[in-house]
Amino acid sequence: MRGAWQAVLSVLFPQRVVCHACGAPLAGENALLCSRCAASLAAHTFAPHKVETVVDIDVSFAAAPFGYQGAPAALVKALKFGADSTAALPLAEGMAAAYAAMPQLRQATLCVPVPVHYRRQRQRGYNQAMLLGRAFCEMTSLAPPVELLVRLHHKHSQVGQGREARQHNIEGAFALRTGAERAVRGRTVLLLDDVLTTGSTAAACARALRLAGAAQTMLLCACRVER
Ligand SMILES: [Zn+2]
Repeated sequence: MRGAWQAVLSVLFPQRVVCHACGAPLAGENALLCSRCAASLAAHTFAPHKVETVVDIDVSFAAAPFGYQGAPAALVKALKFGADSTAALPLAEGMAAAYAAMPQLRQATLCVPVPVHYRRQRQRGYNQAMLLGRAFCEMTSLAPPVELLVRLHHKHSQVGQGREARQHNIEGAFALRTGAERAVRGRTVLLLDDVLTTGSTAAACARALRLAGAAQTMLLCACRVER
């Protein structure tokens, strides 16, 4: 299976000859990670399971294959701050494995990336959740993710904020794009994101989707911050 989607993805995500997590030169042609980072990725992979702590009235199921540590965290940072779109591939591969292992996730009929604020997207040039989502959907043969949500405001960075401050910051921050209700109504949505922390971002997205008529919203992130 790897060969087939890799051929497609290599067009979208050109290869480099260094490890996408640590930047060390690579000997192997097809590897995305050095052996140390590949081992670290494996070491920080959870057995497939539901993340109970973020499940609420709007998020019916949540999962994330990697701990936000070691190579998985380095890949997220390379994807987010290093403009390295290929760093999405090992992460998306873990998301695809979680999807294959958990039948609940396979109820989803529509994939939606968690949006970043347009100002941040303009600075960065892309939404990392969309890049992850494109690779994930390619690997799982799901229809490509659709950017149906918009982030209405972004205040200061959430790093270092407690759950309550975070929730307040996020409250009401998402809305459906104009005309997107038809695409959402009655659907089971799979929200995709890079890092799952408290789940408040996903809950706010899921609420906007529910208000637009979505039947159910689930969440699949690449990494989960362990508390
Ligand atoms: Zn490495």
